Amino acid sequence: MLKGKTALVTGSTSGIGLGIAKALAQQGAHIVLNGFGDSAAPRAEIEKLGVRAEYHGADMSKPSEIEDMMKFAAAKFGRVDVLVNNAGIQHVAKVEDFPPEKWDAIIAINLSSAFHTTRLAVPAMREANWGRVINIASAHGLVASAQKSAYVAAKHGIVGLTKAVALETATTGVTCNAICPGWVLTPLVQKQIDDRAAREGIPVEQAQRELLGEKQPSLQFTTVEQLGGLAVFLCSPAADQVRGVAWQVDGGWTAQ
Ligand code: NAD
Repeated sequence: MLKGKTALVTGSTSGIGLGIAKALAQQGAHIVLNGFGDSAAPRAEIEKLGVRAEYHGADMSKPSEIEDMMKFAAAKFGRVDVLVNNAGIQHVAKVEDFPPEKWDAIIAINLSSAFHTTRLAVPAMREANWGRVINIASAHGLVASAQKSAYVAAKHGIVGLTKAVALETATTGVTCNAICPGWVLTPLVQKQIDDRAAREGIPVEQAQRELLGEKQPSLQFTTVEQLGGLAVFLCSPAADQVRGVAWQVDGGWTAQ
């Protein structure tokens, strides 16, 4: 379905971003990977699917590096057809204890980076009259949890950005939507499980059960494959009129 198209996925060296990059590559899209840590293994995994993979290590908290990454993608592939804004970090603390530099980093990486990539990708999408912007928000884009002020603010913000961009592109072949996962067992969540186990002096398995039990009625993690499947759907012709949605994949979390 995406043969000959190019998808850029931010924060795709791990977790959800890598899962979505693989799902789009399975549909034939060339992939621009981004993120920290090892890039060789994710790149090899994508290339095994028979498409081209390039990597740019831009730090999503730095607008000048984001501009450089978007120029790199255009130079390698002509343009970005599918933009997945996925890079994200978490920090858990009460608002009065929240380090201001962590607030700034979360807003920059989880929210402002999507503004920068989108403003830079949309002109070529408009010109082609086809494009997909997919923002990885969260259940926390729709409801809050204590001790996550910056993350909740950034994720509510990205849902708002999604709606505004969807309206601005509504008469074109460019769509913009958000995916709102519940708990997905990635390094970002494993850290929260490990911290909980250490804090409460309980086994990791128990901490995992408690985490799910608090929020996710299905008591099962959302998988990266399920999120990849939704991203593929949002790229399909069936989703041409899906615009500005914030689509939960959260085991019922936000239905409560
Ligand atoms: P993860 O930690 O496995 O992956 C995060 C990715 O972002 C990594 O590739 C990392 O290198 C990259 N990254 C971090 N800071 C970066 C920076 N400054 N510049 C460039 N790349 C950077 O986390 P994940 O769970 O896969 O999270 C991916 C997205 O999904 C995030 O936006 C997160 O908020 C969202 N999300 C996750 C869950 C969950 O339960 N895991 C739930 C809802 C939403």
